[in-house]
Parts: sequence; structure tokens; C-alpha cells
Amino acid sequence: MRALWLEDRKLSLREIDVPTPPPGEVLVRVLAAGICNTDIELTRGYYPYAGVPGHEFVGEVDGKRVVGEINAVCHQCEACRAGRTTHCANRTVLGIINRNGAFAEYLSIPRENLHEVPDSVPTEEAVFVEPLAAALEIQQQVRITPDDRVLVVGQGKLGTLVAQTLALTGCRLTVAGRHDAPAAKSFDIAVECSGNPEGFAKARAALRARGTLIMKSTYAGELTVNASSLVVDEITLIGSRCGPFEPAIALLAERKIDVRPLLHATYALDDALAAFEHAQRPGVRKIMLRNE
Ligand SMILES: [Zn+2]
Ligand SMILES: [Zn+2]
Repeated sequence: MRALWLEDRKLSLREIDVPTPPPGEVLVRVLAAGICNTDIELTRGYYPYAGVPGHEFVGEVDGKRVVGEINAVCHQCEACRAGRTTHCANRTVLGIINRNGAFAEYLSIPRENLHEVPDSVPTEEAVFVEPLAAALEIQQQVRITPDDRVLVVGQGKLGTLVAQTLALTGCRLTVAGRHDAPAAKSFDIAVECSGNPEGFAKARAALRARGTLIMKSTYAGELTVNASSLVVDEITLIGSRCGPFEPAIALLAERKIDVRPLLHATYALDDALAAFEHAQRPGVRKIMLRNE
């Protein structure tokens, strides 16, 4: 089958074998997959991964359209037994850690990871379920009320989804780009979605004492932080990653979140290299690869 391959930070199109699903897994025909900033960070060395990248996908199994959670877990380690399965010590992660991902004609994934896509949600919108679920993880971690002053830093794909989901809480929401002037108010909660040290500094500076800083983006390389100021101001720092799929699917089905303005362009899998090049241009939103 056709697949995009990442090795030594370089992407190439290859022919590889169609995966043979081990027990508990199923073969999914990939219909569409989105390019995420994490995929771009992988090509810059965020994590030393060799294989097929891609973790935001819509596929087809037994004539049904599905989306899939990206962590494949063991159910036996201490984290799994305590219910923290996305932190399984033995996990593989679709297109990120030791598991071939979605920029290919087929992928293999545990059946338990799959969620059916309702007929009312088109494939090009369902591609956003995984990042939308990640945006919703914030509300699993922090209770957000209409009284809370919340700043979202980053107006890219993730920042936009985070802002849209937070708006549904009725909180007092401000969205800023990382280049905008410093936010004047002192915020209760700041969400860093820019993946950039400048954005982190802006989110940190906007917080009141005992405020909460939520880090939603991964960074290639290290981040310099004024640790003393976090101590003195008693800031709570929360890392935030994968979130719940069912509420994300429901928000799309109920049309409470509109992801259509986020879709920038669609490419065939064979044009994946051009698609990646396009995805890295400034101001570009979601680039999608389609197999149909
Ligand atoms: Zn992603
Ligand atoms: Zn485990």
C-alpha cells in the first residue's frame, strides 16, 4: 500500500505492506487524515519517531465510518489499572510512538479505540474529532465557570478549537495571538496553544497570583521558564493532552462547534509531501489528506 514514511526527520512516499492486525485490533481503511502541528514537530525532532505519521483520521471498517483514539494501551500496568489509560507505561501512540499512523491507505488499531461517526457528520469534519477531544480535555482537568476570566494564547488550529469549546462554558474569554500586545487584565486561567516560547511567556504574564496555566501545545526543544515567579505567584501548571472522543463527536453532530472554517485545503495521499510543505506556511489551517 501507499504510505508516507518519516525517518531521520525526512518524509518520503513508499510502498509498504498492508498491516496484519494482531488479536484485538482491526484493519481500518483510511478515508481522510489531518496534518497536525505534532506531525510537523516530529519532522523537526520533537520525538525520534520512524514510521508512518498521522493520528487524526476518519476510516472505514465493515462499511461504517469510524474515528479512533490514538493511545493503544496494555490494561495491565499500574497506570492502566488506576484508570489513567492514556498514560499507560507500555502504550504505543498512533503515528507518534512505535505505531504506524494514518498517512497511508490502511492502519491497524485496537477495536476498543474506535468510535462510530454519525451520518450527520461529514468525513472532512470528523477529521477534527481527535483535536476537538484534546481541546475538551481542559474541561476534564479544570472546572471552568462563567465567572472565570480565561485567556487563550494562539490562534492556530488548536487555539481556535480550544477557544470554541471554552466559549460554550460561558466564561469570560479572550483570545490572543502570540504577537499581540500583552493582555491587560489579570486572568484566572491562561491556555497556551501556540507551541512557542513567546506564547508561553505571554500566557504566564497574563495570570493573576494563584492563577492556572494550561499547556496544550508540544514544543520541539526546551522552554525557558522563570521558575521563581511560578513559586512566588503560586501558579498551578497543568499539562494537557488527549481528551474524550464521545463529547467531541456529539458537539459536531449537534453543530455546536463549526470546524468548517478551519479546513484549509485537501490533498491526495500521493501529494503528501506538497501537503506538508503547505501545512507549514504561515497562517495555514488544517490540511487534509484524502484516500478516496
Ligand atoms: Zn494532533
Ligand atoms: Zn498500561
